[in-house]
Amino acid sequence: MRVLLCNFFLFIAIFASSEAKTVVVLDPGHGGKDNGARWYGISEKTLNLDVAKRVEVLLKKRGIPVVMTRRTDTFVSLDYRAQIANRHANSIFVSIHFNAHSNRSIKGIETFYISSKGKNLAQNIQKRLANRINTNDRGSKKHHFAVLTKTRGVAALVECGFISNHWENRRCATTWFRDILAQEIASGIAAYCNTL
Ligand SMILES: [Zn+2]
Repeated sequence: MRVLLCNFFLFIAIFASSEAKTVVVLDPGHGGKDNGARWYGISEKTLNLDVAKRVEVLLKKRGIPVVMTRRTDTFVSLDYRAQIANRHANSIFVSIHFNAHSNRSIKGIETFYISSKGKNLAQNIQKRLANRINTNDRGSKKHHFAVLTKTRGVAALVECGFISNHWENRRCATTWFRDILAQEIASGIAAYCNTL
């Protein structure tokens, strides 16, 4: 009986701690055989990973636990990305992408969500990026991206700029600009975490 009780309290303790812990799952879009968009010699997959790693450093400095869906130039399926997020009871999933359009004059930053909690997260990120960065504020929008629909926790997908636009492409190619993007994404995620 005593052993049973001990196991019961241990179960409660583990359950309670996993419930309380918020984990940010950063998802650098594409990777490996999937380049994502490719314009003017730059692959989206490389930019995504670079920005995600910068966000990871900034969040960890704030004491926020981070899990990455990939750390290298490897292909990860959309299902597996969502599975990584779904391992955690309280995950905040942020997918990082850069945009492209056949109309090269289109530029700007936009963030997507599905749920109402996701909307709050997306708005926190979008607001900071739009305030800091000189480009079109394309806003936060509801969109059924597979990686968002498959994720059970709070989720947002940020499109950090159009690499099909030459002006935006040249800027995205610099580390100083990717650092600014990371600062504002991390600050938006941290602000959302503070509302929990
Ligand atoms: Zn993408």
